[in-house]
Amino acid sequence: MTEINFNTIKFVTSVPYMKGRPAERGIEIAFAGRSNAGKSSALNAMANRKSMAKTSSVPGKTQHINLFSLKEDLLIADLPGYGYAKVPPREKKRWQEEMTNYILNRECLKGIILLMDIRHPLTDLDRAMLDLAVRGNREVHIVLSKADKLKSGARAKTLSDMNKALRGLTIPWSIQTLSAVKKDGVKELQDHIRFWYESD
Ligand code: GDP
Repeated sequence: MTEINFNTIKFVTSVPYMKGRPAERGIEIAFAGRSNAGKSSALNAMANRKSMAKTSSVPGKTQHINLFSLKEDLLIADLPGYGYAKVPPREKKRWQEEMTNYILNRECLKGIILLMDIRHPLTDLDRAMLDLAVRGNREVHIVLSKADKLKSGARAKTLSDMNKALRGLTIPWSIQTLSAVKKDGVKELQDHIRFWYESD
């Protein structure tokens, strides 16, 4: 199995617009999700860091794509969280266009890690993101975050309900639970990134 040392992840750049992003090279894996879904915590858990990705004290504030490299030919794109109510409509619209452009046109984009709070999965905006992934024919790995917030029975039920709800999805997809607090599911997330890297 290919060695990816998740500890040695490096910050590359932060870009406010897609056109400022680095040239296409190797593969890119995007992290997406609603604001407050636990995306930064998942990224930090993946990299065994405390504060590589900024956890959002002001949700929705960071409207930048932050790029990190795991290997020279493997980039992680931390996309801005969506759904934060206080973002002005014009800004929301701009980001919607940017996201659409990114997901449909970024050629090196291998797949999307889509974070959803296990207590409120599959909101309308998550469905819109999935629709976009289908339009772009992108693979999606769903991470049900904050798994420690539910007891194991409720956790298993949510996972089973999600499997049913997503059955008709026409792109390759997979799903897991994650607790960034307890570090449960971190290896599964890392293994999925390895799998995408190797299967390219
Ligand atoms: P982001 O906006 O998607 O980047 O979300 P953050 O990573 O900043 O997390 C939002 C909130 O959820 C923060 O208060 C985190 O401490 C909390 N959180 C994130 N992951 C977990 C988790 O695995 N378990 C618990 N209990 N809380 C979490």
